[in-house]
Amino acid sequence: MSNTSQHLDVAAAEEHLMRFLSVEGVTGHEANIAAAVTDALQKVGVPASAIRFDDANKRIPLPTETGNLIVDIPGTRPGPRLLFSTHLDTVPLCAGARPRREGDRIVSDGTTALGGDARTGVAVLVVVAETLIKHKLPHPPITLLFTVREESGLHGARELNPAELGGPVMCINVDGQSASDLIIGAVGQENWEVEIRGRASHAGVAPDKGISATMVGAMGLAEAKRAGWFGKVVKDDGRGTSNVGIFGGKDGKPAGDATNVVTDYAFIRGEARSPEAAFAKQIAEGYKEAFGKAKAAVVDHEGDTAEVSFSYATSYPPFRLDEDSAVVGRATRALKALGIEPNLLFSNGGLDANWLDKHGIPTITIGAGQAEIHTIKEYVNLPEFEKGCRIGVLMATLED
Ligand SMILES: [Zn+2]
Repeated sequence: MSNTSQHLDVAAAEEHLMRFLSVEGVTGHEANIAAAVTDALQKVGVPASAIRFDDANKRIPLPTETGNLIVDIPGTRPGPRLLFSTHLDTVPLCAGARPRREGDRIVSDGTTALGGDARTGVAVLVVVAETLIKHKLPHPPITLLFTVREESGLHGARELNPAELGGPVMCINVDGQSASDLIIGAVGQENWEVEIRGRASHAGVAPDKGISATMVGAMGLAEAKRAGWFGKVVKDDGRGTSNVGIFGGKDGKPAGDATNVVTDYAFIRGEARSPEAAFAKQIAEGYKEAFGKAKAAVVDHEGDTAEVSFSYATSYPPFRLDEDSAVVGRATRALKALGIEPNLLFSNGGLDANWLDKHGIPTITIGAGQAEIHTIKEYVNLPEFEKGCRIGVLMATLED
């Protein structure tokens, strides 16, 4: 069998990438980049009638300019439908990015991140469509999915209605770094928060009449650490990680606003991650118990305690593909056709793949040259981008 990726037009692929990197589209503001993608797809021969938006943005609890962009490419041979996905949005640090080429890299001007996460993926999906159409390569029916608000909580993938996708048997998500890496699973995450309502009193005149919310919070965190629930968590029942993100007061202000008043309110927010959904919840429960102990330990002169309300909710579920599954097999064949030895990885961060897998579509995540993401040192590694494009074309065209 000939290697279909020989049809890749590398210069055209890099032009697409450069164009998409130059269009601002931070998370929640994806309308312009979606328009640029729509335009590029039409120019390579995808009819306007095959391009549409879903209404996921109506269900996302944060203002979001558009729904997910979904594109149908009819098969030129029979076979089970394939889904290719990536995300349209970039992190806010990418605002104002000015991409420029430097050797075999694309870099920013050093004042912003670049947005190769995930504009490399956006370019790969367009390049796959272009290569298939231009060279009339035989391929099964394909759906392209460009999600919104990945960077602010995987919202587009979460709120996606899988029935919109035409029944794909597997998904190739392009949102990784090295082309040799195949991400076959990722942790799940619980977000927890606690509100502590103490009682104010004059700290000099009547400290015993107050109940310090700050002290309850601090002692709760110390207890969570003592009990082994903070940072890297290793227990008989499982393993995971946790962190404390915000320790403050109402409306983003500090907890307390004067040293002479016993603090009456504190708010703390954190996260817990694990490869096992149940264990991520168990970590959150560990924090709950710790704040319960802290509550009992901080009393006023009459033995009253603070009101502590603790809650947690799933941010995204974990997943792990079977190494013998069809999607891992197909990706492995694509890499090997390019002489690349696959490196199967489990991610400690969530991806759109977590939700796509939850929606019943086994999803592998491949890399196409993102590097140093979410920092002002971000760049795109062009040789890896080219390999990512080739893997995309091969994944679309391999025999089943
Ligand atoms: Zn990404």
